Amino acid sequence: MSDSTEGNGKREQLVVERVPKALLVGGRWRPASDGREYEVEDPSTARSLCAVPDAGAEDAKAAMDAAAAAQEGWAATAPRERGEILRRAFELIVERQEELALLMTLEMGKPVAESRSEVLYAAEFFRWFSEEAVRIEGDWRTAPDGNGRIWVMRRPVGPALLITPWNFPMAMGTRKIGPAVAAGCTMIVKPAHQTPLSMLALAEILGQSGLPDGVLNVLTTSRPAEISDPLTEDPRLRKLSFTGSTAVGRKLIELSARQVLRTSMELGGNAPLIVCRDADLEKAVEGAAIAKMRNIGEACTAANRIYVHSDLAEAFTGRLAEKLGSMVVGRGTEPGTQVGPLIDGAGLDKVDRLVQDAVSAGARAVTGGAPLSDRPGYFYPPTVLADVPTDAAMLREEIFGPVAPVVTFEDDDEAIRLANDTEFGLVGYVFTESLRRGIRYAEELETGMLGLNKGVVSTPAAPFGGVKQSGTGREGGAVGIDEYLEIKYVAVDV
Ligand code: NAD
Repeated sequence: MSDSTEGNGKREQLVVERVPKALLVGGRWRPASDGREYEVEDPSTARSLCAVPDAGAEDAKAAMDAAAAAQEGWAATAPRERGEILRRAFELIVERQEELALLMTLEMGKPVAESRSEVLYAAEFFRWFSEEAVRIEGDWRTAPDGNGRIWVMRRPVGPALLITPWNFPMAMGTRKIGPAVAAGCTMIVKPAHQTPLSMLALAEILGQSGLPDGVLNVLTTSRPAEISDPLTEDPRLRKLSFTGSTAVGRKLIELSARQVLRTSMELGGNAPLIVCRDADLEKAVEGAAIAKMRNIGEACTAANRIYVHSDLAEAFTGRLAEKLGSMVVGRGTEPGTQVGPLIDGAGLDKVDRLVQDAVSAGARAVTGGAPLSDRPGYFYPPTVLADVPTDAAMLREEIFGPVAPVVTFEDDDEAIRLANDTEFGLVGYVFTESLRRGIRYAEELETGMLGLNKGVVSTPAAPFGGVKQSGTGREGGAVGIDEYLEIKYVAVDV
């Protein structure tokens, strides 16, 4: 082993050691009440990084007790104070960017350069909502008939359950925790079982930033239903915010019906990326590469179906294959790595199944096309498929991997019809040099967001969310805090 490999191994170990491997309940770090633990795996080696508590129903109840007890005091805390806690947390995250990025790469696999960007992106939600905390507005009006006044105020919803996915272990947390803190809600956070460490580190930072005990409670678990079941039955819970797959989201919406909980659902996507006849080819290739390859293709916003006008198809596919085919695949911690491993064996098998299905139906692999079986971990190379038949399973399901299926179209009507032919509606991407055409796509694509000549749409300053089965509610932007506020109207007799 070289000195530098040994040094890197030590650094990795230190970063993992530094994280509290405990549940956070009422300000106290503690083990699961039945003492159970589960192992967290590094997807680039398939080896265990450490064990964390495996919370169950009793821990869920304890966390609910803590969140409920802290709610009244927290709602009464000055908005400026809530904002300043978020602001301090923003600064601490930025200060600790390197260490947090390495931690995220170890548990999730993405290249460290991408983890660094996610850490900053995650921190930005705290900065954004630190500024929103003091702008929760009300309304005071004279009634139309002049008799009395209409007073509308906004109050925190109350204790919230926040469930996050593994693909953006920190940003999907801050996108919920930021507005909940700003609005004055207490919360129980349940990170994905694959990536608990980033959330535990984040919780520690919030504590150091002055967040009072009980406002944020964190439950790590490999048995999520044992948490969501009792909590959604508990009348003290008032809100459920979930980011994850549509299948699990649907189950949670059903559970939420028990207490008629307020819900926000950020679910799956099946993003079309449309390259029009008049597109700037280089811009379209760049945009497609980032929309496809960001986060190893494991993003709800990933371009899942690439529709290219037949005049450009050959040139576009060749350029995209060249670009993706030259990307460096490896352990996310290695300098120069651009494509890390997929999250686990199930993720790898799914990508492999979808590619084999498309190829057996007539698709052609221009680059990539099979898992990398020469190493441990779950690696799949960047893949571009041409001539993908429109009924291929990969055009219906989320691929969640570095595979770009290209389908040709002849005119805008056909592209819009194909793009809208899905139950999902999170985001779309359109590349065109025509303003008129761009506006038409923006109005007619059935999505909550659109990248116009841009392969990335995510920013804390804009409302993120989908239509159709991609979910309900919006995170970020000026409306993001509304998900955690209840409207109360008072009729005043004057
Ligand atoms: P997942 O649905 O399997 O899991 C998401 C979370 O739900 C995890 O914390 C998991 O432990 C938990 N969970 C699973 N079963 C549960 C149950 N019965 N009760 C309570 N919690 C339960 O999704 P994933 O594999 O972690 O993430 C990938 C999915 O997330 C993709 O579908 C992706 O599109 C979606 N996603 C959506 C957005 C968005 O903003 N729309 C963002 C990121 C990811």
